Amino acid sequence: MKPITEEDLRASFVNCSRGEAKRLGLPRGFTDLPWDDLDFLGWRDPGAPARAYLVAERDDSLVGIALRVTSGASRAFTSRSMCSLCLTTHTSGGVALMTARRTGEAGRQGNTVGQYMCADLACSLYTRGKRQAAGGAAVEESLTLEEKVARTRANLRSFLAKVPG
Ligand SMILES: [Zn+2]
Repeated sequence: MKPITEEDLRASFVNCSRGEAKRLGLPRGFTDLPWDDLDFLGWRDPGAPARAYLVAERDDSLVGIALRVTSGASRAFTSRSMCSLCLTTHTSGGVALMTARRTGEAGRQGNTVGQYMCADLACSLYTRGKRQAAGGAAVEESLTLEEKVARTRANLRSFLAKVPG
């Protein structure tokens, strides 16, 4: 994705209040992120670990989604989980249930959508092999990098499409 400014980032959020968007903690190293390798910007709030955010390009604008992080506490330590966006398999703790409040009327009624995602939201880096899942043996796939990137982006688009109420 193209580099974005703090102002663009804060203005992009669709499912939280302006005040929340203004206060949220920026990703670490925000001014020096590997933008070329990012399909979307995803991060955990450095000051509030139960909150996560993702900002993605959609058409010519940005869409930011505030997420609540639910760790899979009931899962056995040895169990493995798969991220629904990049399909990376992690050991327990590497994947978390991320829940987004929907927008519009659905959101006012308390409606949310949730999906299991990489707990650090670094799907773009896992997809490109720039970050390895802890203890995870990468599943050998016959897809090219371009195909994997396209798949991650398609999964992200379908998640984003569920948020509007
Ligand atoms: Zn992922």
